[in-house]
Amino acid sequence: MELACLDLEGVLVPEIWINVAERTGIEALRLTTRDIPDYDQLMRRRLALLDQHGLKLSDIQRVIASMGPLDGAHQFLDWLRERFQVVILSDTYYEFAMPLMRQLGWPALFCHRLEVVADRVVNYTLRQSDSKRQAVRAFHGLNFRVIAAGDSYNDTAMLAEAEAGILFRPPQNVIDEFPQFPVTRTFAEMGEAFRKASIRAL
Ligand SMILES: [Mg+2]
Repeated sequence: MELACLDLEGVLVPEIWINVAERTGIEALRLTTRDIPDYDQLMRRRLALLDQHGLKLSDIQRVIASMGPLDGAHQFLDWLRERFQVVILSDTYYEFAMPLMRQLGWPALFCHRLEVVADRVVNYTLRQSDSKRQAVRAFHGLNFRVIAAGDSYNDTAMLAEAEAGILFRPPQNVIDEFPQFPVTRTFAEMGEAFRKASIRAL
């Protein structure tokens, strides 16, 4: 049995925090792990910014709903789901992803959770650390052969753990550091890479 694992942000939907920063005008929300390497510190900073600007979960969800999936993402996902069982492995949060999942037809999503009190985001809970790699390991334990696709550093452990890994629109430094993974730039190319990586005739 074969399973397809997809990253979410940068593959099916835009980068959530960057778009929230752009659409709310709160530039400091653009910070990523490149600026603050400690993820916990980064999230504390983000939550403090939301508080400071009085942004509630529902405000952010409205912004996220207006982003929409990337052009062609929904069609690609439908194409893939006809051929594989598909699980999306993401480091985002259910509360953020839901407005976008609705627009993608509610695919299976494994990610993290926010703690929300009266519409205010007060904390976050990671389901598990190194969660993308751990998910692929667990799928192997269930006798699935895994083909995975993602766009960035936080996907490379998942791509390496899978039987086949595919990069989609990655930054140049990821291409240079991980030459073992084929690089795709369109949904048609990514579909073709899944087809090639499959042991079945698709
Ligand atoms: Mg990504």
